[in-house]
Amino acid sequence: MIYFDHNATTPVDVNVLEAMLPFLKDFYGNPSSLSRPGRIVHSAINTAREQVAALVDVSPSQVIFTSGGTEANNMALASLPLRGKLAISSIEHPSITEPALRLKDSGTPLALISVNQSGVITPLAINEAINNKPNMVSIMLANNETGIIQDVASLTQKLKENNITIHTDAVQALGKIPVSFRQLGVDLMSLSSHKIYGPKGCGALIFDKNTPIRAILLGGGQEQNLRAGTENVAAIVGFGKAAELAKNELSKRHEHVEGLKKILEAGLMSITHLTIFAQQATRLPNTTQFGIPGIDGEMLLMKLDKKGFAVSSGSACASGSESFSPVLSAMKIEEALAKSAIRISLGMQNTKKEIIDFIELLKIVVNQL
Ligand code: PLP
Repeated sequence: MIYFDHNATTPVDVNVLEAMLPFLKDFYGNPSSLSRPGRIVHSAINTAREQVAALVDVSPSQVIFTSGGTEANNMALASLPLRGKLAISSIEHPSITEPALRLKDSGTPLALISVNQSGVITPLAINEAINNKPNMVSIMLANNETGIIQDVASLTQKLKENNITIHTDAVQALGKIPVSFRQLGVDLMSLSSHKIYGPKGCGALIFDKNTPIRAILLGGGQEQNLRAGTENVAAIVGFGKAAELAKNELSKRHEHVEGLKKILEAGLMSITHLTIFAQQATRLPNTTQFGIPGIDGEMLLMKLDKKGFAVSSGSACASGSESFSPVLSAMKIEEALAKSAIRISLGMQNTKKEIIDFIELLKIVVNQL
């Protein structure tokens, strides 16, 4: 199977697996125990905390390990002050939109920040959001479906002047482009391990020390009393190793997938009526989403799957739903085109030959549909 679905998840890097194994076999202590087995794993968690902190340019004490990007996003929104107002962009992941809707149902005023037709949040849209006087704004750094990167650093200035807490979901940006918490000027940031060749079920919420966090899991005093529960030690160690590798290999990874993406997009553009979404916008180096009007995206996905190519018809979390992507809807992509959406997200093990084979196959399959 040729795997073109790295925004859904990535394979675990062998070095990550090797780093994790001792913590599944030999070092099984509870990190909260004061005895030696406990101290060993506690120190391994601290190393991972340093590795994750280094990748996003913060101090280790600003890292709260979570069960993944979903929990980090939920936790960020839970930290909205009581009786506060919330604004989120219209292209957020369901792990932001769903808790936001829950808050709305219980009386929190919720505003949506629009994107333009290229999927970009403009300073004008931010100004409109500020008029609603939100206490917190959530804007994702890079979109999982289209790969569009928001200029978060420039959008945050105006928000900060208005004392608004800023959260960014950096799950898809991490490991693909440089992500500096400080340069972005945000207060909260969500990360996930399994998008950067780390294990699933692990992530982090990065926080500014002046931003009050409301814990959603209550119990023991783990993670500075902000996230209770015995730590998933092996996964945290794996996330740390994956972060270290991502930092060291960032430019190599960027160059590899971007080179392949250029070949992919040139091939795609030779297919009649095919549109690459937000082609002119700044996008992740590994992500291309396209559509061909009148073709059913899920059907095309299944045909490609049968021929050995794993792609996505949009957000993995949204697959199986009848309606088309809310992200494409927010970009006002017409329905016939949006329903045909296919996302290719490349990774380190992909090759030029795979791309060439894919284009050849796609041409044949599209003609048969
Ligand atoms: N945010 C974005 C943009 C994502 O793409 C995803 C996963 O698809 C998540 C959050 C959720 O992360 P996790 O799978 O670690 O819960």
